[in-house]
Amino acid sequence: MSWFPDMGTVTMIDAGDHVRAVGWLSAEHPYTKGEVPAEFRARLRTFAERWGDSTKALGWGAFLGLHRCELCDRFMASGNFGVPQAGLLFAAPEMLPHYVEVHSYSPARGVRHGGHGVAATGNGGVHGSGRVVPPAARAVP
Ligand SMILES: [Zn+2]
Repeated sequence: MSWFPDMGTVTMIDAGDHVRAVGWLSAEHPYTKGEVPAEFRARLRTFAERWGDSTKALGWGAFLGLHRCELCDRFMASGNFGVPQAGLLFAAPEMLPHYVEVHSYSPARGVRHGGHGVAATGNGGVHGSGRVVPPAARAVP
């Protein structure tokens, strides 16, 4: 699979000022490791399982063929999914939950606090735009 830096504006599936790359890992590049809250992991699994819906909704073409995980060589996936949030589109491979759960990959904080529900502390949150919004005003994807 192709490597793209986290939070970059280019991925295999989409590119642009509004695009943020998440989890395009490669064995040849270091990546951020760390604890990922269980709730966020569960959401990632759901997103990945529904990558087909996401691809259709975003008008992305379907890519044929499987990608093999370069880190362990034991996992394969073929899809991609996007999560629109605060004017941005986080674009990730279906492999993302695998990276998180098996390889301790920790998506950039901007992703986790981008309104995925994980940052639901009840005290509001800062969106990608830097605007502080009350919890009630948050978009629920
Ligand atoms: Zn792997």
